[in-house]
Amino acid sequence: MSENGSDGEGLATGLATHPCRWDTCSFTSSTFKNLYEHIIEFHLGSIKKTDDWVCKWTSCPNAKQGKLFNKREHLKSHIMSHVNYFPFACQYCNQQFKRRPDLNKHINKSLGCQQRLHGLSLWDNERVCKWLADSDLHGLEGLFKARNINGETLMVIDDRFLLETLNITDQATRERLLALIRAKKRSYRGADTEKDPNDCK
Ligand SMILES: [Zn+2]
Ligand SMILES: [Zn+2]
Ligand SMILES: [Zn+2]
Repeated sequence: MSENGSDGEGLATGLATHPCRWDTCSFTSSTFKNLYEHIIEFHLGSIKKTDDWVCKWTSCPNAKQGKLFNKREHLKSHIMSHVNYFPFACQYCNQQFKRRPDLNKHINKSLGCQQRLHGLSLWDNERVCKWLADSDLHGLEGLFKARNINGETLMVIDDRFLLETLNITDQATRERLLALIRAKKRSYRGADTEKDPNDCK
């Protein structure tokens, strides 16, 4: 099963229609998001608490076997297997997932995303020096290397520290460095991921 959304909404055109195959329903939608919301609202929404939680997707193997789900949440999660809808995007690498636990698992095991999650504070001195070089601050590289400045220090660095402790007398350089650090911190905070559709019970 694709978890990257390449066959999902991203490629959907205005002409693409995604039919609802729930029982005898004839609803179609141009986006998987709308289709998913339709299923939850109209089909799961019409199941009474006293009824059985059963999937009525016509091509569903569970439906054929009459398999019951013991909770609404389990059926909701199962519905995702019929719909190419990826509401959970990793805010660090943009990879998309159908379910929140899949996203969390990804972040926990992806070294790159872990580092971005923890941001600057995980950078070692070598990483800091490379960043200075990449940012055209070659002049500071040697100084930061000699003082063994790591990401944790970078997080709390201020103008006074640069001037008095590191003796960087050129004000323009100090300002440029501080602006770059601020931008870096901001980029790590990233954008919020989309609201969890499972939040609305
Ligand atoms: Zn339907
Ligand atoms: Zn099903
Ligand atoms: Zn990621």
